[in-house]
Amino acid sequence: MAYNYIQDLNDYIQNDKSAKNDIKITLDTLKNIYETLYEITENEDSKLLNTDFDCPHCNNKLLISDLIDYSYLCKECDENFYDFEVDKSKNLDSKQTKKYTIIAMENNVNEKKEIETDENFFKALDKARKYFKDNINNEVYISDNENNLCYCKSSSEECFYDGYSKINLVSKDILNEYIKCWDEGKKTPIVSNRLYCVDGDFFVAVDNIGGNCWTEEFNNEVDALKWLFEEEINKNDDKGDEINAI
Ligand SMILES: [Zn+2]
Repeated sequence: MAYNYIQDLNDYIQNDKSAKNDIKITLDTLKNIYETLYEITENEDSKLLNTDFDCPHCNNKLLISDLIDYSYLCKECDENFYDFEVDKSKNLDSKQTKKYTIIAMENNVNEKKEIETDENFFKALDKARKYFKDNINNEVYISDNENNLCYCKSSSEECFYDGYSKINLVSKDILNEYIKCWDEGKKTPIVSNRLYCVDGDFFVAVDNIGGNCWTEEFNNEVDALKWLFEEEINKNDDKGDEINAI
């Protein structure tokens, strides 16, 4: 990390030759330290070089790179990878033991009550909904072990949170109205870029983050939510049918 930082610094300095030279010496020194430490680690406890991540080419487990300006190494492919070349999401999902806590807040009392926890978000969701049904005066929340709000259900709305934005579960009428307003360039009935509704046996989801109003129908709610949580960038190719789907 320090190496990359100093390397970036090097790019900023254009004219000062002696500064550039100092930086080069520093980089070379860091590189030597790195390579020496790597060799020692490799000989004494090579397990420390293992990572949880898969090679983008052959799916074997990656090691920490032996080259200071790369992040990962695949021994099988004999190739080094930068951090951004490695898809870490699936490994992180399965590795991290998440804990979802269901919290209820009784209206007018303003007192938080922890109801239950579950490692599976969708199981927690079922429990939260059941709790809401049985205790109609409560708002129900789900938060994860980093205290991020994931879900909220109150008498006025039901939504899922994903960092900065939220996904709203709305009625079929609201969803159709939303698409109609988007199509006509009018103000939408709900301020949200991602929403879905139940339509008979199906779930209809709308992703309008990129302003394209991608619409897709699903057989179950989990798939609809997963699609909505996905990055917009994955949808442009083959997944969305724009508004014609409804
Ligand atoms: Zn490989």
